[in-house]
Amino acid sequence: MRSFIRRTAPCNRGRFVRRLAKVAAAEGVAFREHERIASLDELEAEQIVIATDGSGRGLLPELDDAVWPARGQVVTTEPVGERLFDCPHYARHGFDYWQQLADGRVVLGGFRDFSILTEMTDEEITTEPVQEALDAFLFELLGYLPQVTHRWAGIFGLTQDLLPLVGRVPSRDGTWIAAGYSGHGNVLGFMCGELVASALQGREDPLLELFAPARLLVSGVIHGEPAAPLSGADVSWGLTPDSGRSVRLWKRGLPHMCVPLGGQLLGV
Ligand SMILES: Cc1cc2nc3c(=O)[nH]c(=O)nc-3n(C[C@H](O)[C@H](O)[C@H](O)COP(=O)(O)OP(=O)(O)OC[C@H]3O[C@@H](n4cnc5c(N)ncnc54)[C@H](O)[C@@H]3O)c2cc1C
Repeated sequence: MRSFIRRTAPCNRGRFVRRLAKVAAAEGVAFREHERIASLDELEAEQIVIATDGSGRGLLPELDDAVWPARGQVVTTEPVGERLFDCPHYARHGFDYWQQLADGRVVLGGFRDFSILTEMTDEEITTEPVQEALDAFLFELLGYLPQVTHRWAGIFGLTQDLLPLVGRVPSRDGTWIAAGYSGHGNVLGFMCGELVASALQGREDPLLELFAPARLLVSGVIHGEPAAPLSGADVSWGLTPDSGRSVRLWKRGLPHMCVPLGGQLLGV
């Protein structure tokens, strides 16, 4: 089923983040780009906020087990002559999403479930099965395959209950987290950032309880295990009893999460 949401506001995230950075820089925030922190021990700050969503693997072992990286792939076409979509559209419960830009180009993302296990990764690259699925859907939408001018992938963080982890990291003084938005951090991220900033200044909002990291970190059976990259053997999958509608993933023998399925499963 396809649907559109008239009140949804598409947002150019690149432009938005650049503008935000400019405002922050004017307020005295220092940025260090292209510099990956390998260990929190490198940092001298009294308070550290880990805001890496799904791409911070290796920083804290307990987080590696609570926040799973997931990859989303996207394509953009050359301008399409006709105005076909005047607002953002979604299909298969939001798995696939597209919009037409003001200059006529179509931006389409999704089809992660066509290769669900290979897409549980923080490797920011495009892959054939998902790109082919995107091309095939473009053809279905437009009746022909226009030239695809851009292909890219991005990483986001999934948690078991699909809510982010926001607040103090238990048993680690001065360490905070705001990550794991499960694909919905564009707006939620601002609220969570503000909650953490206020808490750091001694004003703890009761809303923080909703996102308490302890709910997933402390109960995690693998709490404290050293960070290790997942291998194929660590992850397995099976269909849930509502067979064919969702897939349950196990990580290192433990049930981890249930992902609704809209399409064919490939690559597992
Ligand atoms: C294809 C795609 C489509 C999406 N669509 C939507 C949508 O429609 N609506 C929505 O709400 N959300 C969407 N999301 C999710 C949204 O992008 C994220 O929730 C949001 O970007 C989270 O913001 P953030 O600042 O917390 O993390 P990010 O934007 O992921 O930024 C984290 C930063 O931390 C840096 N980092 C990671 N590890 C380290 C390290 N060790 N050292 C230094 N820096 C590090 C990364 O380089 C990155 O710059 C989408 C994501 C993808 C990939």
